[in-house]
Amino acid sequence: MSSKEKVDLKGLTINKLKQYMKSIDQPQFRAEQVFNWIHKHRVNSFSEMKNVPNDLQVIFTKSAKIGNIEISKHTNQSNDGTIKFLFSLSDSTSVESVLIPPRPEAVDVNTRLTVCISTQVGCPLDCKFCATGTINFNRNLTTSEIVDQVIQLQKISKKPITNIVYMGMGEPLLNYDNVMSSIELLTEQKGMGFGSSRITISTAGFADRIRQMGDENRKVKLALSLHSLVDEVRVQIMPITKKFSVKELIDSLFYYQSKTNKSLMFEYILFEKINDRLEDAELLTKVCKKLKARVNIIPFHSIDFTHPEGFAKTLKPSSPERALEFVTKLKQNKVLVFQRLSAGIDIDAACGQLAFTHYQQ
Ligand code: SF4
Repeated sequence: MSSKEKVDLKGLTINKLKQYMKSIDQPQFRAEQVFNWIHKHRVNSFSEMKNVPNDLQVIFTKSAKIGNIEISKHTNQSNDGTIKFLFSLSDSTSVESVLIPPRPEAVDVNTRLTVCISTQVGCPLDCKFCATGTINFNRNLTTSEIVDQVIQLQKISKKPITNIVYMGMGEPLLNYDNVMSSIELLTEQKGMGFGSSRITISTAGFADRIRQMGDENRKVKLALSLHSLVDEVRVQIMPITKKFSVKELIDSLFYYQSKTNKSLMFEYILFEKINDRLEDAELLTKVCKKLKARVNIIPFHSIDFTHPEGFAKTLKPSSPERALEFVTKLKQNKVLVFQRLSAGIDIDAACGQLAFTHYQQ
């Protein structure tokens, strides 16, 4: 059997590991042992699995592997402590991930550490504010590659990672099966055991998949990259609106919430004279009240380094005065609103900026 055909055990749930053990005539209890070694002890080789006999390690080596993505570069720490990592994958493609410390004023400043992970090599969606959208889509990441970003960064981090956000390169719901399997692995108590409330999926809005998450009772935090409730405006910022209208999206979020009872987050970048009118704030208020949703106002980060053209080139952040008016209106309307400061902006690691830039040679 060539190494290409070997089963990557890092991407298998305990149940799938049991099926694998059965296929090589091994007892079921080996599945939990192997899972524990890979996800709790984070080993890279079968020889490190101390309670697995040598002859079995040899059998594993013939039919299986433990996927291992490598950090090929990382940025120097940003002024705010954020670090961006470049992982090289086995087919010579790359993705980026970001370690984000809490803000100094955060109540959990001593304990919180967030990792932002990628789900695709490039992205096909072409959101006009996003640097990743300018990179040609190459492929979906495997379950193992998604989980391994967390494992590798935990290995080098002095502090435990506490939160995971699926907000790096790619649209998570376009890689649905692998993303959901990765969440199953990350939340497995016999492995890393992350609480599902510490995992956030951010989507550009695939109404069909949002409904599927509801049907499957996926209780992670869901964030929708919204940016406008007017189809004609949103479609210019996010072409995916041609496929799913704003109404279809909001209906799918209702459905998801009715099934999971989870609160929702809208991400909203304020663009000058595009989506920052007080009428936009009123529209947002109505939807937030219907959906028990909060709003995260995200600063627009320049993507000039990607040499944007057309509509993307015209995008400018709203003035501080206009942004204040918009946020004040939401607050007056009793909408829970956060104004996120940018993490890692000086190393192009902030939201929408991941595009393989700013590494030291
Ligand atoms: S914002 Fe997300 S979905 Fe849109 S182009 Fe960027 S990576 Fe893709």
